[in-house]
Amino acid sequence: MYDVKSMKAEEFIDHEEITETLRYADEHKNDRPLIESIIEKAKECKGLSHREASVLLACEEEDLNEKVCRLAEQIKLEFYGNRIVMFAPLYLSNYCVNGCVYCPYHMKNKRIPRKKLTQEEIKAEVIALQDMGHKRLAIESGEDPVNNPIEYILECIKTIYSIHHKNGDIRRVNVNIAATTVENYRKLKEAGIGTYILFQETYHKESYEKLHPTGPKHNYAYHTEAMDRAMEGGIDDVGLGVLFGLELYRYEFAGILMHAEHLEAVHGVGPHTISVPRIKHADDIDPSAFDNSISDEIFEKIIACIRVAVPYTGMIISTRESEEVRAKALRLGISQISGGSRTSVGGYTEEERPHDTEQFDVSDQRTLDEVVRWLMQSDFIPSFCTACYREGRTGDRFMQLCKNKQILNCCHPNALMTLQEYLEDYAAPETKEVGEKLIAAEIPKIPNDKVRSITLSRLEEIKKGSRDFRF
Ligand code: SAM
Repeated sequence: MYDVKSMKAEEFIDHEEITETLRYADEHKNDRPLIESIIEKAKECKGLSHREASVLLACEEEDLNEKVCRLAEQIKLEFYGNRIVMFAPLYLSNYCVNGCVYCPYHMKNKRIPRKKLTQEEIKAEVIALQDMGHKRLAIESGEDPVNNPIEYILECIKTIYSIHHKNGDIRRVNVNIAATTVENYRKLKEAGIGTYILFQETYHKESYEKLHPTGPKHNYAYHTEAMDRAMEGGIDDVGLGVLFGLELYRYEFAGILMHAEHLEAVHGVGPHTISVPRIKHADDIDPSAFDNSISDEIFEKIIACIRVAVPYTGMIISTRESEEVRAKALRLGISQISGGSRTSVGGYTEEERPHDTEQFDVSDQRTLDEVVRWLMQSDFIPSFCTACYREGRTGDRFMQLCKNKQILNCCHPNALMTLQEYLEDYAAPETKEVGEKLIAAEIPKIPNDKVRSITLSRLEEIKKGSRDFRF
């Protein structure tokens, strides 16, 4: 029985409710008056229910689909402006006891070398990432209580935060590790993590169990209820995601929105981010073996529909996607992207991109500087800002900032100041030139006079060598 406030996975992600939602969406996919009324509701920027959003996703009326895309673009600009937050993944260990059939790290894969970074190796990786200009990382690890216990993860986080190479430092560590206990989430919170990210992979229980035949991840309820435990452990920024390609995308779409509704109903705050990974080729993994792959057009439609359904939730796209797809996705609602990523354990200290321990093939293989320049040339502001979480603006306090549209007086200047740091410390001369022009053009957009003048003087101080200002 569907109950958004239930703490049981099978009740807040109720299969019947999803099936009924998909039937309803199908029935109304050409219902112009209904679709138009949902679009009108979405314009109020207060979000949509999973049923309403599912109708938009099913919509077959070309002009209305176009309207949804334009609205997504508008909502994104209104809440997030033209800033794009930058991050990089850091793979700590590929030891894993799970049997996920889509992941090359699955336990039975004997072909890949198993590797776990020592603290010294982490230091070298982090220095390489700092030298690229990164300030925000997402740490990734397989699940293995013996090789990668929580103590190892905590030690890695401590090491990462302790490294200050030249002007570099990692100011926010997000964590993407397997579902764990409330006690462990509390430890992660105490270690100062940013967002706890866990992809559901699929919300379809039966498929989930088949796709995760062995290991602790097999337990659907334990995995699906992880975000509730994380929040109980004090983590109030959580990141959801599904791996598109495993199940029917419309099922996953309804599921992820139901999950967001559940978090909001129970904890008073929805997910901080939603990620939209698509399954990729990797060692031992052939994406064509999965029947539910989606076209770029559907992928873009999903992004637009998520954007209008949950306007305050950040959306993340990784280097699994090509430059071309990322360019379109950025316009439709993505607010955070990775750049210069290596998805192998120890990959950042290798001269050549190593493939033997890669978790998936990287489509966008440009350097961070190339991505930064490309963003700026496309009128986006690459942001290395980590201020909100360091100022305690997490969970509902961040949502408040977003809802009050204070982003232009806060996130916008922070983005400009962190971009200035990047230009000073890491940018190629050509990138620096593009960036200086962009910052000059963006300054007048700060509405508050005082904030604008403080920003201007801080930008000057950054040029003289000061670092780490924030509003
Ligand atoms: N091991 C952790 C867990 O079980 O949740 C999380 C870390 S895993 C390194 C990060 C994510 O990569 C997974 O949640 C999955 O969605 C994604 N992934 C795994 N195999 C993939 C593939 N072949 N292509 C694209 N993404 C993949």
